[in-house]
Amino acid sequence: MTIFSRIVAGEIPSYKVAEDENYYAFLDINPVAKGHTLVIPKREVNYLFELEEDEYLGLWAFARKVAAALEQAVPCKRIGVAVLGMEVPHCHIHLVPLNTEGDLNFSKEKLTLPADEMQAIANAIAAKL
Ligand code: AMP
Repeated sequence: MTIFSRIVAGEIPSYKVAEDENYYAFLDINPVAKGHTLVIPKREVNYLFELEEDEYLGLWAFARKVAAALEQAVPCKRIGVAVLGMEVPHCHIHLVPLNTEGDLNFSKEKLTLPADEMQAIANAIAAKL
């Protein structure tokens, strides 16, 4: 079971942003920018391009709704999108509020925000859905 499946199952806590029957969105615990959100299929699939077509399209549709809410909750120029999967073998789309190109740099030092701030950001995004 991946760490993300354990989050979906409620075994590990997460700052949940959105959920439906098949997909789940939550804050990245080590954000590259405030509001950095991960969008995943609940079904455990290693890699984005291994998803079945309907699940693949559904994931992007879900991500678009989350991105629209994120853009309202965390003012920014654009929502950047990245797919890496270097760390967790459970397909996920990174949504990152961008003000400069450098905000999408995964090599720089990550942020560690206090729990109350993380919760406030998650709540603010969820409120815009
Ligand atoms: P990657 O697999 O390279 O796309 O990176 C995995 C991402 O998941 C990283 O940005 C981590 O900070 C994030 N991450 C790992 N564990 C957790 C967790 N328990 N809750 C939220 N985000 C996580």
